[in-house]
Amino acid sequence: MAMEGPARKIVVLGTGGTIAGTAARPEDHTGYRAAQLGVQALVAALPALQRWPLEAEQVAQIDSADMTHAVWQRLVQRAAAHMAREDVGAIVVTHGTDTLEETAYLLHRLLAPAKPLVLTAAMRPATALQADGPQNLLDAVTLAAEPGARGVLAVMAGQVWSGAELRKRHPYRLDAFDAGDAGALGAIEQGVLRRWRDWPAGTPLGAALVEADPAQWPRVEIVTSHAGSDGRLVDAVCAQGVDGLVVAGVGNGQVHAGLGAALERARGQGVAVAVTTRCSGGVVVGAGAGAYGALTPVQARIELMLGLLAQRRPAR
Ligand code: ASP
Repeated sequence: MAMEGPARKIVVLGTGGTIAGTAARPEDHTGYRAAQLGVQALVAALPALQRWPLEAEQVAQIDSADMTHAVWQRLVQRAAAHMAREDVGAIVVTHGTDTLEETAYLLHRLLAPAKPLVLTAAMRPATALQADGPQNLLDAVTLAAEPGARGVLAVMAGQVWSGAELRKRHPYRLDAFDAGDAGALGAIEQGVLRRWRDWPAGTPLGAALVEADPAQWPRVEIVTSHAGSDGRLVDAVCAQGVDGLVVAGVGNGQVHAGLGAALERARGQGVAVAVTTRCSGGVVVGAGAGAYGALTPVQARIELMLGLLAQRRPAR
């Protein structure tokens, strides 16, 4: 018989970030070093977590600004392996805030798990006078243990986000995330989930899609359309060799004529081009929106990369 509820383990996977960061002075919120404390130490520092059966594993120890495809591959593989365990009910990932939305989107597209996978982070180092990491970690484990929870989720500053939707929108404030027009999925208040939208759903592409050597993954770069865009950057990237380009277009996905001409040249050389908007909210609308118009530029980069990886698979 399948095991249920709190008896099943919650695996906490550590990757570093400010939540594991330390500063020389408690009042220092910016001059700190991320990724200094191990995930075991983060868990041990929070007695309130003792009510759940937890297992902790260090997958990486980096500032998430330096996220690599190799770390992503390892995280996807470890998360998939733990998800497959009958005795595991949920996964929590501690991460940096800077690229949290990219990792969350990748995990959503590859795993879209039937069990909850909850990412959390912190805006202040663990040594801060009012560190936000411990509460965020407690909220993440609380959410992970929620009966019926599923999919890739994130929790920060008491707000619960769908992993496919969240975006970092502030470089300093504790409530640094939003989800564009979609809004939050819910909130954790005094250890209780209040939820006003359904759990994230999706068809997982599967962890095997990213099993190739990360050095061989398709190269996909992001270029922004702006006043004075002349396309020379695109020409330079194409000369170096690139598989895909994501354009952060202006407004409703329009690009400067100079940049547009360079993108046409790139297409002519077989480079895949995805058009998004550089607007911080909303999506590209209308007939020309294309497959990437509803994604942020960084999400579209992942989507394009996964699509190109899928094309390389031998036909079955
Ligand atoms: N640079 C840090 C990181 O993303 C910032 C943070 O975690 O808030 O790892």
